[in-house]
Parts: sequence; structure tokens; C-alpha cells
Amino acid sequence: MATILSAQTTDERVNQVTPQLFRRMPRAADYAGADLAELEELIHPTGFFRSKARSLVGMGQALMDRFGGEVPRTMEELVLLPGVGRKTANVVLGVGFGIPGFPVDTHVTRLSNLLGLVRTRDPVKIEAQVCRMVPKEEWTGFSLRLIQHGRQVCVARRPRCQLCPMSGWCPSAAVSPRRPLRGPGSVETAAP
Ligand code: SF4
Repeated sequence: MATILSAQTTDERVNQVTPQLFRRMPRAADYAGADLAELEELIHPTGFFRSKARSLVGMGQALMDRFGGEVPRTMEELVLLPGVGRKTANVVLGVGFGIPGFPVDTHVTRLSNLLGLVRTRDPVKIEAQVCRMVPKEEWTGFSLRLIQHGRQVCVARRPRCQLCPMSGWCPSAAVSPRRPLRGPGSVETAAP
């Protein structure tokens, strides 16, 4: 439910509404039979609240119809739910259930290329290639660390290489924080 709310908004806005939302509606059945107006009011701060409310109801109904009201715990089942792709499924597996998963978002895509781990922007290929390099028990934590690094240090278009602890070996490290070198792992030079 939180990943549905996270579209086109900030983590802060999602975290602002989820405590009250989950207290009021803790089960899939609550969403399946929710009053739309009440749901819209609860999630209003996240924006696009009308379409998100409909998606939450749809998710509740799908969970009730296909999985007895329980969130499934496999990738194959999770991606059958409306609006759930591999990224969301991996977040739910890794963060929700402690089952190793490697979510690939925009930060993971950028960082994986800049660090020279992959040379593709295809999230399915990135997931497969990085998961072959990293121990399974580290998949979720590694993805979360890449995301955090991408937010705080290796910021898009202005990576702070001078502050980065990986600048000693990163193939894209630059002297100027505004002009990263076009190294072998550079997203810009990666093959389509
Ligand atoms: S050295 Fe620069 S380009 Fe490489 S990961 Fe660090 S901030 Fe990003």
C-alpha cells in the first residue's frame, strides 16, 4: 500500500499518512470494502489521491480474490497484483518479509553503471547481473545502500566525488564534482 502511495511524492509525505491509514485500515479486506471518500481523505497529502485511492481498493480486492487477503511472498505471485512490477515486488520481499530481493530504481540504475558493475539501463538485466555478484543475503541491503548513496553523495548530474569513499576505485570518479568522467561504466556511454 505504501508503494502505491509513493508514486509522484516524497517519502516524508508517505510516512506522514501511513501510520493513521494502517491503524484505520490494517487488512486487505478494509481496502477492498473501503469508502472511497474516507480513503481519499486519509491519503490526501500524498497527491493524486483519487487515483491512488482507487488503486488501493483494487489492491485490496485483488488480495482478497486471489490470495485470501494475505500478501503473497513470492516474486511470481506478487507481480500478478495490479500495478506491481519487479521493483515493488522486491521491496515487499526484502523490506516487508526479509526475503532477499534487489529492487532496481533510478538510483540503483545510475549507480550500478557509474560503478562499472553493469552496462545497461534495463532493470531486469541489472537485477540479474548484480545479484550474481552479491551474496543473496546482501541483496536488499546493497540496493538500499545504493539508493541512499545516490540521494546523498552520488547525486544525479552533480555527483560529489570529492566526498565519496569509493572515489579511489570508481571508474566514473571525477576531479570536478560536476563533470564525472565517461568511464567504462558510465550510463551515458552504456550500450542501449
Ligand atoms: S566516485 Fe563519484 S561517480 Fe563514483 S560513486 Fe562516488 S560520487 Fe558517484
